[in-house]
Order: sequence, then C-alpha cells, then structure tokens
Amino acid sequence: MTRIPRYLFTLLSIALLTLTSAIAAAQTAEPLAHGISIANMDTAVRPGDDFYLYANGGFLARTKLPADRASIGVFSTLADLSFKQTATIIEDAAKANAAPGSNERKIADLYHSYMDEAAIESHGLPTLKPHLDAIAAIHTPRELAHALGLSLRADVDALNNTNFHTANIFGLWVAPSFNDPDHYAPYLLQGGLQLPNRDYYLSDSPHMKEVREKYKTHIAAMFRLAGLAEPEARAARVLALETAIAQKHISLADSEDIHKANNPWRPADFSAKAPGLDWPEFFRAAGLDKQTTFIVWQPSAFTGEAALVASQPVDSWKDLLAYHLIEAYATATSKALADERFAFFGTTLSGTTQQRPRDFRGDVIVSRILGDAVGQIYVKRFFSPEAKAQAQALVDNLMAAFRERLERLTWMAPTTKAEALAKLGTLQVGVGYPDHWRSYSAYEVTPDNLFLNLWRSDLFDLHYSLDRIGKPVDRKEWTMTPQTVNAVNLPLHNGLNFPAAILEPPFFDPQAPDAANYGGIGTTIGHEISHTFDSEGAAFDSKGRVRNWWTPDDLAHFNAAASALAAQYDTYKPFPDLNVNGRQTLGENIADVAGLTAAYDGYRASLKGSPAPMDGNLTGDQQFFIAFSQTWSSVTRDAVLRQQVLADPHAPGKYRAATVRNNDAWYSAFDIQPTDKLYLAPKDRVKLW
Ligand SMILES: [Zn+2]
Repeated sequence: MTRIPRYLFTLLSIALLTLTSAIAAAQTAEPLAHGISIANMDTAVRPGDDFYLYANGGFLARTKLPADRASIGVFSTLADLSFKQTATIIEDAAKANAAPGSNERKIADLYHSYMDEAAIESHGLPTLKPHLDAIAAIHTPRELAHALGLSLRADVDALNNTNFHTANIFGLWVAPSFNDPDHYAPYLLQGGLQLPNRDYYLSDSPHMKEVREKYKTHIAAMFRLAGLAEPEARAARVLALETAIAQKHISLADSEDIHKANNPWRPADFSAKAPGLDWPEFFRAAGLDKQTTFIVWQPSAFTGEAALVASQPVDSWKDLLAYHLIEAYATATSKALADERFAFFGTTLSGTTQQRPRDFRGDVIVSRILGDAVGQIYVKRFFSPEAKAQAQALVDNLMAAFRERLERLTWMAPTTKAEALAKLGTLQVGVGYPDHWRSYSAYEVTPDNLFLNLWRSDLFDLHYSLDRIGKPVDRKEWTMTPQTVNAVNLPLHNGLNFPAAILEPPFFDPQAPDAANYGGIGTTIGHEISHTFDSEGAAFDSKGRVRNWWTPDDLAHFNAAASALAAQYDTYKPFPDLNVNGRQTLGENIADVAGLTAAYDGYRASLKGSPAPMDGNLTGDQQFFIAFSQTWSSVTRDAVLRQQVLADPHAPGKYRAATVRNNDAWYSAFDIQPTDKLYLAPKDRVKLW
C-alpha cells in the first residue's frame, strides 16, 4: 500500500503540550551552547554499546517530567520557544495602533476580539442566531442541499499537512491534480462526524460506549445553551444520524491509500453514482457549479452519505447542521458554550482538566488564522538573512550529496535512475519561509466580534481555494507556516518545506561548527529528501504524477534492503512484552538511514579536503554523529511510549538514533569493535541509497 509521505516527527498532542511546557522547559533545559552539548552526554557509556545514552545520558538523568507533561525533548522545547516568540509579535502588534487594513492591525484586532470576553458575551449569540434561523427555515430537499452546500469549507488536506477530518458533510481540498499536476483541482473528502473518526461511533468497547453516552449529553447541553427547544430529542437525532454516516465512512488506513483515491467524477457522475442529494443545488451553494471535474477521495462514502440525505428525515439533517454550527463557533458565542465544549472535547476526550490561559489561546488562534502575517514578522525578527543563506547552502550541499549517491548506485537500471535524477532535479526545497506571502487584504477583521472574525476567516480560506481551481500550480507554495516546528514533503508539488522554527538549535545554529549542523538539520533535510524516493514517495514521478517508474528488478532490490531494515528494527524492545514494529516504521527508518548517509557525505564535502575542526577532544565525525543522536533526546512517559510503539509510523527517538550502526563512518569515528553491542558486520549494515 502506498502510504502518505510523512512529517519528520509526530508531536504527541501538541495542543496539550504547550504553555505549561514553557515553564517546564525553563526548569529543565540548559542554556544553549553552540555545537553539540557536552553536558547532555554521558561519557561513561561506551558509544558502541548504547550510542543514544552516550550522547544524551546527562539530559535524561536530570530531566524530570512535571505531572502535566507526557514528554519533554528537543521538539517540545522548540515548540515552546516558537510559541513564546509569536506571543511577543502579537503583544507588540496590540500596542502598535497600526493603520487600518494593515496586517499588524488585523493581528491586533483579532487578538483583541478573542480577549474581549464581554463583547463575545453580548455579540456571540445574536451573530449566531440568523444562521440558526436559516437552518430552521429549511423545508424541501432542495433547500437542504443548498444548506449543505453552504456549509462546505476548505478544511481538509489529504497529502501534505494531512487532515482527513471535517464535521461538514464533505470537505474540500484544492491541490495539484493527480492527473494534471500543473493545475489545481478540487478534491472532495468524506465528512459529517464531530467525533475524531468512525471508530468512536462503531466500536463496542465499554470505553467508547461511555464516550458516546457523554457525547449525547454534551450535544443536548449545546442545544440548550444555544437556546433551542427539545435539546434531548435533537441530540438523539444527531447522534443517530452521525452514527449512520460513520457506517458509510471508510477507515483512515484506506483513506491513506492514494491508489484508491484517484476517482475523477464529472458533475453528472454525482447524481448517477451518489443519488439522494440534489448535487446541482449543492454545488451551486458551494460555489463549485462551474467545475467540470472533481476527484472524489472515498467514492463509497459519497454514495452512502448522499443516500442518507434522501433516506433520513429532513429534521435530523437540520439538527445536525445546527449542532455542527454551534460547535464550530462555540468559543466565539458565549462562555457557557465554550466551557461546555471544553468539558467534552478537552476533558472527556483528551483528559485535560484545565484550559490554558486565555492570552495563550488567543496567540494560538491568531498564529493559525493569520499564519503568514505572523510568520512574516516572525522570520524578520527571529530568522536572519545570514541564517537563511547558511541553511540554504546546507540544503544545496545535501542535494548535491544525494545526487552523487544516486549517480554512483550500481544496482539501479538506467531508466529508473534517470527518473530518480529528474525527480531530484525538479524538487522544490523551501527554506525558512515562502518566497511569496499570502495576502490577507480580502480578510476583514473587527476588534469586537470574534464570531464574525472566525466566520469570515473560514469563508476567506474557502474563496482562496475556490479561486485557485484550474490555475497553474505554484510549485514554490508552502503548506506549513514558518513558526511551525516540523518539516514536510509535498508529493504533488515534488517539494519540501523546512520552516524557520525548526532551523533553531540544536538542529541548526549559524554559529555552531558545520559538524553539528550537518548532524542536526542536515540529517533532517536528508530525511525529507529521501522520502521523495522511499517506498511511498516512489509512487509519484518527477512531475508529481502517480506513476510507477521503477523496473521490477530495482524494486526487488530496494525491497530486499528494506526488509533487512525492518528485521533490524523488529529486534528493538522498549518493553519486555513489546517490540518496535519494523514494517510499521519502515518508511521513516529508510528515510533516517538515507538521510544520515547523505548528510555525512554533505559534511565531508563541505570540508573540501581540509581537516575538520576539533571541539574539545571530539573529532568532526564524532561531533556529527553525536549531534544527530542529540536531536532525538526525549523523556517520555511509558504509557505514551507504548502508544507510540503501537500506533506511530516513527520509531521512538532512541532507536532512530541507533541507526548510526548502519553507517560505516560511525564505526571508524568511535572505533567500534565487534564486541560492542551495536556492532553490525559490514554485510548486515543496511544501505539503501
Ligand atoms: Zn519522515
């Protein structure tokens, strides 16, 4: 199965990790030095026995997890830093009294509207009311189709910042077309559920049954607090209808299989293949009536959900529309609704008992809604042109190293190699921030009506997407904001984004020795580049089309090496009763092996034949491998670690760091001997690229 190219790292419930973690980080993180951290190491450990402990033992020994933290490590510490930085941008904008219409004024006004709780209390319900009245006035199937079409938003993303969830009946994603990657096309995805996925409705486990009971009570409370009559009866109808929709949904694993997703439908196909919904009316209301082709991601769900529009009472659909609307804007409608929403989604579903301070939540909302406006200031303030130039040079060296490796490969047929080289040649690598910033000129912000601000933001995003359909693809566009601590591979663009917020120590530091930067961000860059060529990225050709360009022999060779790597990871046992799943984590482990190799080559090439500078008594090669290992340091609760081993495509950081044992240069750097625990005979070291 072709799975989705992935991020570098899955932040475990980032929403739960922030703010309190800023305090925790201040208690546990040491002052940042340039280059690798000696204090974080435990030099009493033999590097060949446990390289992760050797590089990180000091950090692990002194880091204590506060009660409200699941994990502390490099990624969560950097996320804390990014949130602290964006908070200063928003505070300054709030003080600046900038000109009306300017980005800074919009940042200030949006933030103000979030903080002004009295204004929310007086304007919230009156702003919601006309929308509820419109839903109440629905009588005919055509009016229902119209309302369902009006609810469509550009709120899903199947391949980049992957998000398969929308509470609206369907979700729109505008992206380069599978079949014409030079132009944007509309993709439609299944939707209609408020809970995270269909398992919450269909699972028989006692826990899920209890969640559903509490959910029904919650729906009724939301109706009551919004002033609607017969809240319990409405809640029962909503839960019944959502459950029926859940039965029509396909699973997340199936949704992730792109070979099942390329289903071009013409407008007439919808009425033929998915009867029940008045599709022409739906598309008219959604602003999609001029489109001649759509890509339907989960056809069976469209057939099933459209049939439910006809078979289920109009009143049930009206309740569902009203409830989803109340839920979507609860934070902007009244304190009572916002608190009830948190009690269910924050406490019942996620286990948090306290909301984060209001000013923090305001920062998060502004940074999300005006992402590029905040990001533009963020990079001016926190990402210097020198840092960008240096990171760009690093990327160029990594690309050159990868190209050389490809050219030297002896096992790959010339045709496969030619396409791989072409793919590398057209790869668009964004560093720090995009070349072009999104304009917010069409987004109107008022300082005293949060509801309107959120509503307009959703429509602004929708119209931005609708407007792009059919237009030439901007291959240099970004899908992450600069203030995001992560990196991403965009398969349809054949592009990579490395946001400024990850170009920070310990990943990247303009003042650190090259060895530390190549071992840090260099291996990350190598990791993302190699996703372009792993078993997943290989489904897309150099133009972003879905096409198999591998010869059978090449694929067989690649798969044999991959199997050896899977077997290697199967041997890791974080718990006596649980080992790492080598297959589940294979794509990421391939990217780690290849990324480390390319970064090492890039580092050696950067020396241009000169001897590497020492850091204390550590050689350049030693610093390189230690820096790599230190990016994976983390202290994580056992329960969370178990969950990660079971459900995450990334192996725990400790084992990602251990992939040095596949790299010959690591053996000479640390004089690793056959008696060392991590030693692998040369024939057992996995080499993919
Ligand atoms: Zn990855």
